Amino acid sequence: MKRELLTSSIIRHVKDKPSLKPKKIIDEMKRDYGVTINYYYARGGFYPLAFAVVATTENDENWEWFLQNLKEVVSLQRPITFISDMHNSLLNFVPAVFPNSSHGYCFWHLKLNLRATIKGRSRNRKFIEGLFKECAYAYTIREFDEKYNDLMVGSKDNKQDVLDFLSRVPFEHWANAHFPGSRYGDMCSSIAESFNSWVGEERFLPITSMIDRIQNKLKERIDAGKTWQPPIKSREDLFEVHSISTNIVNLGRFSCTCGRWRVEGIPCVHALRCIIADGRPIQNFIDPMFSVLYYCQSYSHNIPPVDVDIGDLTAAHEEVVIPPEVRNQPGRPKTNRFPISGFVQQKGRFRSKICMTSAEWSEMTAKNLFDS
Ligand SMILES: [Zn+2]
Repeated sequence: MKRELLTSSIIRHVKDKPSLKPKKIIDEMKRDYGVTINYYYARGGFYPLAFAVVATTENDENWEWFLQNLKEVVSLQRPITFISDMHNSLLNFVPAVFPNSSHGYCFWHLKLNLRATIKGRSRNRKFIEGLFKECAYAYTIREFDEKYNDLMVGSKDNKQDVLDFLSRVPFEHWANAHFPGSRYGDMCSSIAESFNSWVGEERFLPITSMIDRIQNKLKERIDAGKTWQPPIKSREDLFEVHSISTNIVNLGRFSCTCGRWRVEGIPCVHALRCIIADGRPIQNFIDPMFSVLYYCQSYSHNIPPVDVDIGDLTAAHEEVVIPPEVRNQPGRPKTNRFPISGFVQQKGRFRSKICMTSAEWSEMTAKNLFDS
């Protein structure tokens, strides 16, 4: 399948169903066209800022050179977060060149390191990895402490291996609860792998051609990104947002034609763009059901005790309660549940009439007519 055709199919998928998850797009492309696409393709993209080609392996010299050059093009006015595969040169030079940045270690690489550190049975390793993941993803210090305690207790015979591993990776570089910056939900450096995969064919070209081709590819992405435009205000509360698709946002009615706001109760990306552009407070447009006030009101009621006269407890102790008389019906007791109204039973399973195709429905209706 040609790249252009593949790209247009993905864009059409996203246009038709904006809330479609990348995994689902991959499945649908496989089902409809028999092609397997990469995750970065389905994700709708990343924003490559800088890349470098090194003739030798990655070392202190070329990493320092790269970071120094990167420093020239990125703004230092806002916090920067690095997520890396913990290459030794990066561990040294990221804090040296960007002293105010936060450096997160890729969770996937950490997990591989942990796996290599733990001796013994693989089942045990998997269990410990799971506990480590819970620590990494915990959002608060309190939650982290609990998960960390679980990790220590669950490590049992491998506790020393785990402690050795943790001594090499301080909490503030891998645990959400201790991380000083923001990772925006990205725990792994897989986006770098996506870039490597994206330039797969070009990597085998002579270096000048390679740079040209990558530059063209980047330009295509930048041009595609320019299709996102500021919202156009039609009248008070009514906006038109042009992105991959065009959507109409009505702030007064809390609605967007993409439908997501109505379903989730939280403004979609299109609505957020309009709210921010119009300088209004975002919280005014979130369904009040999500507010602390509503939460507190839900739990503000008391459950009154049941007012029943239990009589004389001494007498109740002496009373013998006899079980009700049950008369068994002839035949073997039925184990199948009765089908509820609106459902038909087929080959031992229940199936909704709504799920039937029109042909199946006609066949069943005709059969019922003849049977009756
Ligand atoms: Zn929308």
